[in-house]
Amino acid sequence: MSTSISLEQNSLDQLDPKEYIIIKGARVNNLKNLSVAIPRNKLVVVTGLSGSGKSSLAFDTLFAEGQRMYVESLSSYARQFLGRMEKPEVDYIKGVSPAIAIEQKVSTRNPRSTVGTTTEIYDYLKLLFARIGRTYSPISGSEVQRDSVTSIVEFILAKEEGTKLMILCPLITKDERSLEEELNILLQKGYTRVIYSGQPHFIEELLEKPQELKEEEIEILIDRGVVQHDEDTQFRFSDSVQTALFEGQGDCIVEIPGEGRTSFSDRFEADGILFEEPSVNLFTFNNPFGACKRCEGFGKILGIDPDLVIPDKTLSVYDGAIAPWRSETMRKWLDPLLKHGIEFDFPIHRTYSELSAEEQEVLWTGNKYFKGLNKFFEYLESKTHKIQYRVMLSRYRGRTNCPECKGTRLRGDAAYVKINKKSITDLVLMPIDRLTA
Ligand SMILES: [Zn+2]
Repeated sequence: MSTSISLEQNSLDQLDPKEYIIIKGARVNNLKNLSVAIPRNKLVVVTGLSGSGKSSLAFDTLFAEGQRMYVESLSSYARQFLGRMEKPEVDYIKGVSPAIAIEQKVSTRNPRSTVGTTTEIYDYLKLLFARIGRTYSPISGSEVQRDSVTSIVEFILAKEEGTKLMILCPLITKDERSLEEELNILLQKGYTRVIYSGQPHFIEELLEKPQELKEEEIEILIDRGVVQHDEDTQFRFSDSVQTALFEGQGDCIVEIPGEGRTSFSDRFEADGILFEEPSVNLFTFNNPFGACKRCEGFGKILGIDPDLVIPDKTLSVYDGAIAPWRSETMRKWLDPLLKHGIEFDFPIHRTYSELSAEEQEVLWTGNKYFKGLNKFFEYLESKTHKIQYRVMLSRYRGRTNCPECKGTRLRGDAAYVKINKKSITDLVLMPIDRLTA
């Protein structure tokens, strides 16, 4: 058994549990009264011969106690589903946090899988994002929220007492019905007024000349009243808002004459886009719902493989780093870049590996001085009826990272759900040393 710190038995009691996880007298399995202090918030490796007790210390003692203490902290209701956990055989353990254990498993998966995706941590992340993730619209960046009767009534009751307001909803018409029929149905339901062209009107009044009406200008006046900060008012507006959401099929408008109107919707919607609500399935790439539509959850697509296009990264563009442009017939794609590179500060003699990310990118996107590789391959695609272009194209085809999900295999809108400004795909793509927050 070798550990990061070895200690005199008596000095153990003086250590600060905020800095160390302190295990005293562990006797689980074959451990013989082992005492150890492990620095907190560090990556600590436990190594040793097979059978020396690494797992007994890490899993059966430390993890077991972390798990047990965490479960103890839950409500008795939650605990009944988890079963009783035995305290490991040890004098004491101090400074333990809630623990997560990842088992060692033989994995036959893609060697490019990250720690983030191959381990069960991903299962916890899915759950975390499904529960506390918030969805942000990619258009405005504002949070997507579903309005509820409660939140709309809260909005109303936040107004000063005495504020007059109207609760409205759009008139939803059925295709086969005329506007006249719709208005008559409203009358039968007990409504008497609508807003037409911004003004309240009696329905009967509008029915006198129905042929002149335009339906998109009609809103149903569900209720109008005065804000009072008492329970009766709260109940009354709750009823009205609920009715408005029902009649308006999810839309409700609160209008305060002279101040303006505020629209509410109980759909999970923002900027005209209907969003998926966070759920575990939304973050699961191996089911059709959560999988990226472009690559169907494989993370790779058949495309142009950059490693085949630029096989030798120690060459400069001038020396022929771009393989398909080396041939005599394709030189015409390279020449403008060599000739005009200086005009946009492109170092044609620098090796590819030393180019900045932007410089590497411009080789693909091109600019006003030369056509990039993307255009070049589009050109080849358009000429595939000729055998030599087809052969050339096939030479550079390979399985490449899906451009849509960047290899994360998740559908694009999964990335709209964020915790602390980070999406689950941000976390999966993040190198492990930055993943500590
Ligand atoms: Zn994809």
